[in-house]
Amino acid sequence: MNDTRTGSCSCGAVHFTTSGPLRGVIYCHCKQCRKQSGHFFAATNVPDDRIMIEGASNITWYRGSDTARRGFCSVCGSVLFWKHDELDTISVMAGAFDAPSRLEAHSHIFVADKGDYYEIDDGLPQFSKSTPTIKVAGN
Ligand SMILES: [Zn+2]
Ligand SMILES: [Zn+2]
Repeated sequence: MNDTRTGSCSCGAVHFTTSGPLRGVIYCHCKQCRKQSGHFFAATNVPDDRIMIEGASNITWYRGSDTARRGFCSVCGSVLFWKHDELDTISVMAGAFDAPSRLEAHSHIFVADKGDYYEIDDGLPQFSKSTPTIKVAGN
């Protein structure tokens, strides 16, 4: 499969390569994502066996909830990953990908918890909590 994408944290201590098609980017406005990212989460999703991570020892995993961990670069602090314990996929922050990412926007979730200082008016679907079918960054 040659449908590969590359990405990294800001300082380059962590690099990753994905293969195959990736899910559309989901924007998560939940409180945890707001607090961790400073705004909101924008992530795609890839099966565990279709991502290679270099410099994984530089990732700090923060257990943000009983069911999921959040991975960021220990050196520069870049938010990179969200990993649910029971899913064989990993969420990867869209902004970490090198251009051209070829990623497409999908929808907004947890909009009921969004920050009170911005509006969402891009026309994408909005869900007050999670989506009916996709388990993503959230709780
Ligand atoms: Zn880094
Ligand atoms: Zn979230």
